[in-house]
Amino acid sequence: MPELPEVETVRRGLAPALEGRRIAHVTQRRPDLRFPLPDRFAERLTGRRISRLDRRAKYILVHMEPASPSIGEEVLIMHLGMSGRFTIHGPEGARTPGLFHHGMPGAERHDHIVFDMEDGTRIVYADHRRFGFMDLVAGAALEASAHLAALGPEPLGNGFSAVILAERLKGRRTPIKAALLDQRTVAGLGNIYVCEALWRAGISPNRSAASVAGPVRSERLAAAIRSVLTDAIAAGGSTLRDYAHTDGELGYFQHAFSVYDREGQACSKPGCGGTVKRIVQSGRSTFYCPGCQR
Ligand SMILES: [Zn+2]
Repeated sequence: MPELPEVETVRRGLAPALEGRRIAHVTQRRPDLRFPLPDRFAERLTGRRISRLDRRAKYILVHMEPASPSIGEEVLIMHLGMSGRFTIHGPEGARTPGLFHHGMPGAERHDHIVFDMEDGTRIVYADHRRFGFMDLVAGAALEASAHLAALGPEPLGNGFSAVILAERLKGRRTPIKAALLDQRTVAGLGNIYVCEALWRAGISPNRSAASVAGPVRSERLAAAIRSVLTDAIAAGGSTLRDYAHTDGELGYFQHAFSVYDREGQACSKPGCGGTVKRIVQSGRSTFYCPGCQR
């Protein structure tokens, strides 16, 4: 399941193909993904020029220039769910009328949305489990939209710090693991990077959130969250099972996790000597090292 670094990697992969470009045609092969697609979805995107791609938590935000004086800036919100992926098919025959669709692959069963850009680039969204979704909102209503309104601070943004993290953990009896998975605490973290960040910070996933709200642990945890995400983005996003990279066809690669999915293996922290353990918290696997996470 893509987390913040994977989504950021996808955003970075898509940006050169979309920013400053106009959408020539959209093919919508189903009425819904996880949720129904917006009314007249394909029609409303056709002809729109994309100004920029942003990301908020695990959402890719495609900002589109005003279509007319009556239709102002709109944002296409895209969420990859569990298995959503984009594939970019290069502009062979770009800007050459008649060659527009030549050399393009045929539709695969799980290719749900196809964006044909004016320069001939084809961007295909496939999602075999269909937990992903797309929505269209007015630019002015973006922050208040149902998707974004309740999100906590962006962990790599200026709105996140040890002090802010501590405020959000204070008084909470829930385990720190669960508090970090709660998108209202900090946005974009999932099971993998929560495990990795807690390991880096040397904090037990079983500890109460409130007990991490002090200055020392909150500082260590905030720094670990930032460094774990920054490293993963630098590595091009980590991937599990069938996750795909956006540049080219399927850029599978496996990120080396320190603790996630390493049950029974030796802890790699110098001098620790502990063994990675797996426990289940709120129905999900937690991997941690009892030797160095206290
Ligand atoms: Zn250890």
